[in-house]
Amino acid sequence: MGDMVMAECADRNCALHGGMKTRGAVVEGEVVSDRGRKTVIVQRNLVKFMPKYERYIRTRSKVPAHNPECIGAKEGDIVKIEECRKISKTKAWVVTSVIKRAGE
Ligand SMILES: [Zn+2]
Repeated sequence: MGDMVMAECADRNCALHGGMKTRGAVVEGEVVSDRGRKTVIVQRNLVKFMPKYERYIRTRSKVPAHNPECIGAKEGDIVKIEECRKISKTKAWVVTSVIKRAGE
């Protein structure tokens, strides 16, 4: 099968096939949960400067993102997510591509 990408999907919140316009930040992260319906939790590993201690520390942030059918991101995948308008109470990000599938 390999990397089969669906040509189209009927998801209106899809950034590729629906009317979803992305804007603002584009970030990469790892899918840590794919249990939600068309929602994944993406974890970003960040390096943050802490002026108080004058050093960089690693922090993590988890962001819920919309996962359209044509993307179908799974736990362990490295994905690109883009900021968009609010899709639901907690979602304002949409997965736009899978950079690396889990186990590859
Ligand atoms: Zn789509």
